[in-house]
Amino acid sequence: METVFSKIIEGSIPSKKVFENERILAFYDIEPAAPVHVLIIPKKFIASMNDVAPEDLPLIGEIHAVAQQIAVELGIADSGYRLINNCGPDSGQAVPHLHYHLLGGTKLGALVG
Ligand code: AMP
Repeated sequence: METVFSKIIEGSIPSKKVFENERILAFYDIEPAAPVHVLIIPKKFIASMNDVAPEDLPLIGEIHAVAQQIAVELGIADSGYRLINNCGPDSGQAVPHLHYHLLGGTKLGALVG
């Protein structure tokens, strides 16, 4: 399925990349909700957390490892951060391609992301 994120993966929409390997891409959110706001996405198309299959679990684990690494590199590991996934309409998920918001760099409020 073509989304803004598939276009970012293929390069037809530009992004400010933070991390990339064969399976995962991380880039700065275009409308940051915190001083550090990075999106971490699998390159494989998965529409939402509802669509994560058992064979995707190593990929999900790797996304957590990438989030941990980015938090260290961007200096928010010790101060703290959130890793947020929005799933479905009530969550406000706007882009139907699985993604995780890494948010930090300030004291976060009750509902950020
Ligand atoms: P969600 O509401 O969880 O689906 O989050 C989608 C996120 O994608 C929002 O925080 C948007 O600001 C972000 N976003 C949309 N288009 C772009 C883009 N071209 N580059 C970077 N982030 C984007």
